[in-house]
Amino acid sequence: EQDDDRKIAAFRALLGDARSAVAFSGAGISTGSGIPDFRSPGGLWTENRPIDFDAFVSSPDMRREAWRRKFTIDDATRGARPNAAHLAVARLVEQGRVAAVVTQNIDGLHAASGVPADRLIELHGNGTYATCLDCGLRHQLDDIRLAFEATGDPPACRGCNGMVKSATISFGQAMPVEAMERAYAAAEEADLFLVLGSSLVVYPAATLPVAAKRAGAQLVIANREPTDLDTYADLVLRGDLVELLRPYAGLA
Ligand code: NAD
Ligand code: ZN
Repeated sequence: EQDDDRKIAAFRALLGDARSAVAFSGAGISTGSGIPDFRSPGGLWTENRPIDFDAFVSSPDMRREAWRRKFTIDDATRGARPNAAHLAVARLVEQGRVAAVVTQNIDGLHAASGVPADRLIELHGNGTYATCLDCGLRHQLDDIRLAFEATGDPPACRGCNGMVKSATISFGQAMPVEAMERAYAAAEEADLFLVLGSSLVVYPAATLPVAAKRAGAQLVIANREPTDLDTYADLVLRGDLVELLRPYAGLA
């Protein structure tokens, strides 16, 4: 109603003024593309306890299980395309309003929507390819899957025979240093920090919005459910991200 209209107008005004905004996304920006978020009942990520990094590295059985789950998730989400919320973010980047897109997602949909690599920070890596933990060599998932299904063994690096893992960050695995530094730098330079579909419960998700606001950014939290930082935000928008951002997506 009126309160909602006032909030939407305030949101539009903030975007209109933005010159160095950060768009910070979580799983909620991709539910509109058919990829379940972390908390949805029966969600692919919640059916099993996650396999942490130490378990992956120390146990061939766990590596096998991790790859089995990975291919199951990939099959269930194959063909997912960026939705209007991703497209809106890409357009705001193109317009020079959003300076950096920082995401916790591993689905690659921000890249697919056209955000250039130098504007995109994938804090938890990328699930669309794999890398060798020993030598860093990049591997295509199709190749790995063929070998895995043929032999039943967890894949080994074609270069050094080392351990190959999806290029995502598991629990217990070190966060990528360069990505973290870029994310904090962008947050500290931001005039506007937009949280888009994150429950803000895990580190560093919970600290980036605070760092941005301390350094002078306006903080907007757009999420279907309340978050612990809502009282700290300048504007809280509680609805569907696809609806909120569709007007900025440049679609007919
Ligand atoms: P989360 O699942 O903890 O929180 C997502 C939030 O988005 C929820 O609070 C939910 O209410 C909200 N939401 C869902 N759909 C929405 C919509 N259409 N509009 C507005 N809000 C919506 O996700 P998180 O905070 O990103 O953390 C989950 C972790 O799991 C992340 O670290 C991420 O790497 C991983 N994950 C990634 C993907 C992906 O790559 N698409 C999917 C699931 C989980
Ligand atoms: Zn290797």
